[in-house]
Amino acid sequence: MEDAKFAIASAVEGQKEWVALPLYQRNEILRHFIALVQDHQEELAQAITRECGKPLAQARGEVDSICQTLDGYLAAGTTLYGKSMPVFSEKGREHDMIFTIYEPLGVIVAICPFNFPLSMFAHKVAPCLVAGNAVIVKPASDTPLSAILLANLAHQAGVPGKTLQVITGSGSELGQWLINDKAVNGVTLTGSTEVGKDIMRMAADHLQHVFLELGGNDILMIMDDFELDKAIEEACAGRLRNTGQACNGSKRLLVHNRIRKEFTDTLVARLKEAKIGDPMQEDVEVGPLVSEKAAITVEHQVLRTIQQGATLCYGGTRNGAFFTPTVLGDIRPDMDIAKDLEIFGPVFAILGFDTVEEAIAIANQSSYGLSGGILTHDMKVAFQVAKSVDTGAMVIGGHGSYRSIYQPFGGHKQSGLGVEGISETLKEFTKIKTIFLRDVL
Ligand code: NAP
Ligand code: MG
Repeated sequence: MEDAKFAIASAVEGQKEWVALPLYQRNEILRHFIALVQDHQEELAQAITRECGKPLAQARGEVDSICQTLDGYLAAGTTLYGKSMPVFSEKGREHDMIFTIYEPLGVIVAICPFNFPLSMFAHKVAPCLVAGNAVIVKPASDTPLSAILLANLAHQAGVPGKTLQVITGSGSELGQWLINDKAVNGVTLTGSTEVGKDIMRMAADHLQHVFLELGGNDILMIMDDFELDKAIEEACAGRLRNTGQACNGSKRLLVHNRIRKEFTDTLVARLKEAKIGDPMQEDVEVGPLVSEKAAITVEHQVLRTIQQGATLCYGGTRNGAFFTPTVLGDIRPDMDIAKDLEIFGPVFAILGFDTVEEAIAIANQSSYGLSGGILTHDMKVAFQVAKSVDTGAMVIGGHGSYRSIYQPFGGHKQSGLGVEGISETLKEFTKIKTIFLRDVL
């Protein structure tokens, strides 16, 4: 508790210090930060792999994306324009003018998940700092070191220590101390829906701004006109990314009944070839899960789904923190996995359908609504599905585990509140102020 209070009191000072610097000076510091990240790319990527078991090639991609994210927010920060409004068009106000400016929110607490520890750090810290806030990062307990390494680089570049801090410890204990304080102005979380709801409750007392990026149970819908080999690769890319631990992974595969058997058999054959092993090796496609505990959870979820009537077509075995890529067939819409059971591991759940309407109904029966994908060459069907599935994003022609740093990424329904991405988030970390000029015209 003392550490949290100390961090918050320091952040209040750190925010004043930071915002006192003109934007161009803050940007110079952040540009230096980007250069340092580029110089330490390999060290950061290896830190991610060691902590969360992400295959190294994917960890390198993650580090590369944080440079692009920082760069994009720097550019966006220079055009954070307010508006001027024609008050003089209102009767009796002919001599007045009105304009708006964006001000930082103040102190933001950024709570990160284990699965993309540095990309989530960047998606939160970059807009916070560019908008002039101080930020206290609380990394996941499984992945604190990469966050500390990255924050050290920011400090080396000149971001004041009080402006950007990292505090480690259990979220369920620290959360209340970090949030239940009126000096904190906003909380941004990427994590599970359950924790998101707890945070909203905690933030209610001081009415802090709350931004939530939460769980998902996204679909990848595969029509029978799409090339089977490409569909298999899209399904694997969408589900095996980060060994199945992605919020927007393709967790429910809706496959047209005409091709369901062939699709399932080909997928199993493909997964038998997947290289599983040490994530530090360059060509490993499937690494361990973040912990043995996480793998045990997946094991239980798979067993529960089989007990509910699913057929185990492949996999289903665990060895320590490793979970074999697994294919579950004969999933019915009434099973938990077809609705809100989010499995954070390399598990392919195959649901058959006959009509597009039926598939859309299955997609929408989940309480989640993050992303999704549709594979077909019939553009009319593609748009119908993209429009009708209630999610924050839909990908036509690919799996939905696809994220652009610019898109307003974020869930509909219980997948989140607010959106994250260069096109939107900067404004979310500000408050708007209106200034009137009386009798100037
Ligand atoms: P999690 O268990 O919700 O944890 C996320 C963060 O919240 C961790 O730093 C955790 O700390 C902290 N936390 C836990 N309880 C808390 C509390 N009561 N108050 C404040 N903070 C608390 O999620 P995870 O297991 O790391 O990540 C997996 C989940 O994140 C999945 O549901 C996934 O879909 C979602 N996710 C969403 C997105 C998105 O952008 N929408 C992206 C990635 C992941 P500890 O580690 O110390 O418990
Ligand atoms: Mg957790």
